[in-house]
Amino acid sequence: MKLEDIVRYLAEYDGPEMNIMEVCGSHTAAISKNGIPDMLSEKLHLVSGPGCPVCVTPSSYVDRLIELSMKPDHCVVTFGDLLRVPGSVRSLSQAKGDGARVIMVYSPMDVLKLAEKEPQTTFVFAAVGFETTTPVYALLMQQLVEGDVRNVKLLTALKTMPEVIGHLCSAGAPVQGFLAPGHVSVITGAAVFRPVAERYGIPFGVAGFTGPEILMALYAIVRLRGRGEVKNLYPSVVTEEGNTEAKRLVERFFEPADAAWRGMGEVAGSGRILRQEYRAFDAGSSDLTEDRKINQACRCDQVLMGKKKPTDCPLFGKVCTPLTPQGACMVSTEGSCFTWLSSNRKR
Ligand code: SF4
Repeated sequence: MKLEDIVRYLAEYDGPEMNIMEVCGSHTAAISKNGIPDMLSEKLHLVSGPGCPVCVTPSSYVDRLIELSMKPDHCVVTFGDLLRVPGSVRSLSQAKGDGARVIMVYSPMDVLKLAEKEPQTTFVFAAVGFETTTPVYALLMQQLVEGDVRNVKLLTALKTMPEVIGHLCSAGAPVQGFLAPGHVSVITGAAVFRPVAERYGIPFGVAGFTGPEILMALYAIVRLRGRGEVKNLYPSVVTEEGNTEAKRLVERFFEPADAAWRGMGEVAGSGRILRQEYRAFDAGSSDLTEDRKINQACRCDQVLMGKKKPTDCPLFGKVCTPLTPQGACMVSTEGSCFTWLSSNRKR
């Protein structure tokens, strides 16, 4: 079907109302950038999902990182987007102003050079992410084990998509279709979404990140309404079975575990932790306390579950802005609230 026909179909759609979840933050950002919400019929609604790793990292995880960064002879190493995520009291970057030792890097592998230069320091890598990033941490683990590097540890908050989507479905999230993340699917394979699609009778469209790719996936999802099928619309990079080598490497070092999600609590089997034989490399990932909101009015939990729009939050754009984030959804450039505010998105 030609793109112009797809655009016309989505604009003129007059069937039953549908909420389609943009599961990942990259899709949320691409959808806003391409002005897709304004191209859709009033009967089609795009809702945010739990796919921005920084947004779903609980405040207790940030608290633990801060604690470690203040310990003598310790240094926390992280990607930049985690620096401003609020913990229950403050963020890592605020703690840095109070003397915490925190270093920002662009690749987990950078920690190896740091560790070599300062053998007396324990470097704690903030290992946050989904299936896309976990293979990189597995690669880092391989280097640590094979190089017998003893002064690098991981504080893990690794998450998996199919389990949390299943959790949303079983919790009755008002969603009739899922825009499945293309980059996650490169690793997992499109087939990973099939059990949950079939179980709940909800269609999935695996999509790339350009405007036309997203529109084609939305069209497929709408056409499949009520059917538990997975349509791979990103076949140039996504296969049915995914990247088996990366999956094998992940399995060598990590095993499934329950995981805490910001605002959603514990979701069974939705995380990855270091296997028992590699726990010497863990910085206390299982010792996290309960998740606490820094601002009780924050609606991140509802936004991440597709139950509310960012603009439904009373703090949106007033008390909560990218400079004064009250919840994680406003911190990351892939966070729903950040994207909605910066692109002036209304629906
Ligand atoms: Fe939370 Fe801010 Fe979003 Fe409100 S606008 S839900 S406070 S991140």
